[in-house]
Amino acid sequence: MLSGIYNYLVKNNPEARNIFASIDKYNQQRKDSKPKGLPLGVKILLEAKYGSKWRDKIRGKTIKIPFVPKKFEIEYEKVLLKYFKNHFTKQINKVSKEIINDIKTRQDDIRADMMEQRFYDSFDRIEKEANYAELGLEIIITHTARKLYDYHKEKFSYSIKKVFGIAIQLNDENVINNLPKWTKTNLNLIKNVRHEVIPKLKSQVTNAFQNGIRASELQEQIQKITGYTEYRAKLIARDQIGKLYGQMNRQCSTDLGLESYIWRTSGDERVRPRHRQLDGETRRWDEGIIPGEEIRCRCNGESVVDDKLLY
Ligand SMILES: [Zn+2]
Repeated sequence: MLSGIYNYLVKNNPEARNIFASIDKYNQQRKDSKPKGLPLGVKILLEAKYGSKWRDKIRGKTIKIPFVPKKFEIEYEKVLLKYFKNHFTKQINKVSKEIINDIKTRQDDIRADMMEQRFYDSFDRIEKEANYAELGLEIIITHTARKLYDYHKEKFSYSIKKVFGIAIQLNDENVINNLPKWTKTNLNLIKNVRHEVIPKLKSQVTNAFQNGIRASELQEQIQKITGYTEYRAKLIARDQIGKLYGQMNRQCSTDLGLESYIWRTSGDERVRPRHRQLDGETRRWDEGIIPGEEIRCRCNGESVVDDKLLY
């Protein structure tokens, strides 16, 4: 409603346009000039606790949080596999059985293209139903994101308290605002798997009817495709949890005024060579890739308390 009035005024009234433009400019300037670093109240508390040399007590310390626990990936993987099984592969297997049966018992008086169309329709129906089921899935994905958020917040706050010696209220508005975006990305990734698999299935069926391949061969091909669906579900789960954790870490840190971090790898043999090189390096949160960003990366970032934050 308000944005409707805003748009109307901006479109039709040059004076209103100027006023809104100057308000926008003012807001932007205010945002840009917002001082970084610890709030004054926190500095006063720190000085009261440690005396005038309080900065020396804290400078150079790092905000350590645990590597993202495997249980989040495992739980998310379970959720996605269950969704694909109940709303996708189970139905595909059922239709595939019918196809294979029809091929085996095909009679000459049934036209192949009619049969083919029937199966096409079945695949389309599966796709549509899976779309409806996505509403439920969205709730589950949101819940997953929220649980990871709670975990990260707890660990981050704990580490802050350990480093500073006092609890600091975190402004996590930006972290919370990012959660729906992550949910949407995940829904799209899942949708993409279906968009990729359905045409593949259709072309296999066409091939089966037109070139008369053996039923057992078709069965094998379809199994491969449904297996691929599971593989993708697992990949999404393992990749996305690490990504979200990394994003939360960056956002929490930079919102507090922590601009740099030390790259930490899990130290095992699965760490990619490039990240092994980065291990221990101090980097800026706003430059280059961050831990967790690259596919299935399990690295972590340890934010550094520097003078910019303390002064
Ligand atoms: Zn990594």
